[in-house]
Amino acid sequence: MCAVQGSSAGREGLSNSRGECRTNTAARADVIILGAGASGLFCAREAAGRGLRVLLLERAAVPGRKLAVSGGGKANFTNRTVSPQDYYCCQGREFCGPALASFTPEDMLRLMRGWNLPVEERAHGQLFLTVPAQRLVQALVRDCRERGCRLLCDAPASGVRVADECFQVEAGGKLWHGKALVLALGSPAWPQVGGSGMGYRLAQSLGHTVIAPRPALAPLRLSADDAADAALLELAGVSLPVRISLPDMAYGNGAACGWDDDLLFTHEGLSGPAALKASLFWREGATLRVDFLPGQNVETLLDAPQAGRQSARALLSRHLPQRLADALLPAALARRKIAELSRSARRGIAAAVQARDLRPSGTAGLKKAEVCAGGVDTCEIDPHSMRSLLLPNLHIIGELLDVTGLLGGYNLHWAWASGMAAGRNILK
Ligand SMILES: Cc1cc2nc3c(=O)[nH]c(=O)nc-3n(C[C@H](O)[C@H](O)[C@H](O)COP(=O)(O)OP(=O)(O)OC[C@H]3O[C@@H](n4cnc5c(N)ncnc54)[C@H](O)[C@@H]3O)c2cc1C
Repeated sequence: MCAVQGSSAGREGLSNSRGECRTNTAARADVIILGAGASGLFCAREAAGRGLRVLLLERAAVPGRKLAVSGGGKANFTNRTVSPQDYYCCQGREFCGPALASFTPEDMLRLMRGWNLPVEERAHGQLFLTVPAQRLVQALVRDCRERGCRLLCDAPASGVRVADECFQVEAGGKLWHGKALVLALGSPAWPQVGGSGMGYRLAQSLGHTVIAPRPALAPLRLSADDAADAALLELAGVSLPVRISLPDMAYGNGAACGWDDDLLFTHEGLSGPAALKASLFWREGATLRVDFLPGQNVETLLDAPQAGRQSARALLSRHLPQRLADALLPAALARRKIAELSRSARRGIAAAVQARDLRPSGTAGLKKAEVCAGGVDTCEIDPHSMRSLLLPNLHIIGELLDVTGLLGGYNLHWAWASGMAAGRNILK
């Protein structure tokens, strides 16, 4: 898979009168890109297409491992619509605007057509491949290779410094020299496929601020010690569409933070797209509110004239899995005839089903998180080019930045858009 094996690195870089790094040619490049994941490959493809000498260094034995497993192996590579509203960013999601505007889902679809990669649209505008995501990795690597990019695998970057207006990168026991440097090292989420925290360390060593990373798009744990939530741990395997919200959080311009999607109960707590989306905004101690019958009004169902002779349990089990109805309904009310229930009892049942508050004890951690929220502070990055505002010719892209998309293809789209923004602007 690796296009070129590196020859021995040369002596330390020096700038000549034209501002070029003088060293052994084999160890020299216009731009060194660290990390051959989604954003690094995309950036390398674009920069090499502009005629720059690109050196792409990757820690793993093969490039694009996370991309290859994304979307259950079919890569939810973008969404029908993508806007800053689909992202979370501590310093304000408008940071994403320029890069998203200059690389749209239609641009990505055009590339897919050029690569002959078939796609399909699923719920919520999510665009997936219908062939293995590895084919997308191969297409990117092929393009990079055809454009003259050098890709070197098994080359973990361990240090970076700036000397004589050049970047010197230690990787795989060698020293590499570049006029420009791109950090595309992703996050430590899902370390099974190469996620690492090295990007944060290198960015910090170059003077950047890192907003504390935390697992996101991850399942949420419920505690067996919480009497109210413990019953839900018995529901492993139950899945249904819900509306999930964080009543104490605002989304964007004060709008309520909530989504309609599928929820899956597990032995540890909550998973499925609804829980993963909520995990991006959930913070320790925060409450989740779940409406298990979105689009219906339980009080109206209970008040229907024909409902009076049956129990709330019997009525609700026509709308919900029986095990879930049993776990949600107050035991003292579940088996009584609805006609005998007071107004406040009916309201209590409706609240138990449609405004059920849960108190997760945590996320399932980095090993089960699709991404990390947090990362390099976007205040220090130019939103048009992903160029560092602190250090000339340094760009930072992809998940390493404090930009996190919701579930639905938005994180890969950010990798493309930010990689493209950098690739078009390196050494300009
Ligand atoms: C299981 C899973 C499923 C996902 N599914 C989707 C999906 O369907 N849609 C979606 O939009 N997003 C999805 N994501 C998220 C998406 O894959 C990432 O947001 C995206 O890959 C980030 O791209 P990146 O280039 O920033 O980082 P990565 O793709 O992680 O690339 C970083 C690269 O840097 C390399 N690296 C790390 N340390 C070093 C080092 N020291 N030296 C050199 N190289 C190094 C890594 O090996 C890796 O190749 C998923 C994530 C996971 C874990």
